[in-house]
Amino acid sequence: MATLRLYNTMSRAVEEFAPADGRTARVYTCGPTVYNPAHLGNFRSFLFEDLLRRVLRLAGYDVLQVMNLTDVDDKIIKRAAERGVTIGEITEPVVEVFHDDRKFLRIQDAEQYPKATQHIPEMIALVQSLMERGLAYQAEDGSVYFAIGKFDGYGRLSRLDAREIRAGARVAHDDYTKENAQDFALWKAAKPEDEAAAAAWDSPWGRGRPGWHLECSAMAMKYLGKTMDIHCGAVDLVFPHHDDEIAQSEGATGVEFARFWCHGEFLLTEGAKMAKRIGNVATVADLREQNVSAAAFRHFVFSTHYRKQLNLSGDALEASIEGVRRVRDFAERLEAASGGTPGLAGAAADLVRDAEAALFDDLNAPAAVGALFTFIRRANAELDRRGDDADALRAAREAFARVNGVLDIVPDAPRADDELAAWVDERLAARKDARARRDFASADAIRVEIEARGIAIEDGPWGTRWKLAR
Ligand code: AMP
Ligand code: ZN
Repeated sequence: MATLRLYNTMSRAVEEFAPADGRTARVYTCGPTVYNPAHLGNFRSFLFEDLLRRVLRLAGYDVLQVMNLTDVDDKIIKRAAERGVTIGEITEPVVEVFHDDRKFLRIQDAEQYPKATQHIPEMIALVQSLMERGLAYQAEDGSVYFAIGKFDGYGRLSRLDAREIRAGARVAHDDYTKENAQDFALWKAAKPEDEAAAAAWDSPWGRGRPGWHLECSAMAMKYLGKTMDIHCGAVDLVFPHHDDEIAQSEGATGVEFARFWCHGEFLLTEGAKMAKRIGNVATVADLREQNVSAAAFRHFVFSTHYRKQLNLSGDALEASIEGVRRVRDFAERLEAASGGTPGLAGAAADLVRDAEAALFDDLNAPAAVGALFTFIRRANAELDRRGDDADALRAAREAFARVNGVLDIVPDAPRADDELAAWVDERLAARKDARARRDFASADAIRVEIEARGIAIEDGPWGTRWKLAR
């Protein structure tokens, strides 16, 4: 079996990975908070986890992946109160959009998508066991808090400085900074707006609702056991979310919660983290509207290593659209070919060797993408020679399918309206070139040509958008 190496945030080092039982990788991936459709930054994280999942399979392991859906939290309750509805009325349609968007991006199904609201008894049991061990207490405000000062090594994952720990001081929100490391809420006493939104449950400490961190610990241990192989998320989850998950879980079980911690870097727009509160978000709906295929977006994401920041830009997406067009042309040619050459077989062997070496080396997808394009160049030259070696052709098809089985960057064949889209994209690129040359007469002529086909174009800070005019 191939040796897979992964960067472990806990040790800050790349380590050899194998599942504890040698067969099935048990993976927990923190999922979306379902009050708004997930944005492309969230999906960058989910694509990194899709890559991990597929590489684990490539390495010969089975995968048991759990992705939670956070369907009760401060933001969801606030939205429900604004609209005078229950949290379920906010979250249910968003869960559907999430799965549609995820499938659009070819993100493979996890084995489980547990919802927080359906695991309240497990959460209460976890709080109870922390109470019994003296690691939790009910405060005057009625809420139950985790006593960070009583848990040895609190903040181990983020390497929190012991001086930063403010045991006894309490924080009720789910999100706070390292400078504000305090006792955090496990169970929040219900307020009237929680009751109004159907976000309150009975517990031994009165009506209330779970804290965000508690949700993940309870659901992770329910489906994966006390110790899982890999826990994932984006870098913003290291503190407090994952440190708090460790404290709650290990506080209750006394054994290691996750053997590996893997974190992906952010997607940025114009240098800033893509985030709902900054208001610079783009979604899968935007990709669809602008005719950016799943293949192109995957190519864009996988062209940068998951531990490096990635900037979303029109130019980068255009380059990916062009790149995957070449992949599709090649895939069609390989499918139609009737034979190969010994050189084709050699190129196929090199592809498998280089792409696997890259992917098993801490998921180096950009190097695997590079190996695929090298293969396409070499294979095209070999196919030009019109050989008749059936084994070589089979080897080339298998190698291509094996690597593309991880990257999944062949766009669907164009439909009639996709052909129009391709034409518009090509004309817009020509217009952009003309403008860059300050040849405004040609640029204007191209605009007229595009509009004559019933298409409206609009220039904005993110480049040019177009749509069919009524
Ligand atoms: P949320 O829906 O806010 O709970 O986030 C879902 C996942 O997306 C979490 O793993 C976040 O850390 C991650 N995430 C949020 N913003 C970004 C971003 N700009 N780039 C990459 N991942 C992100
Ligand atoms: Zn989580």
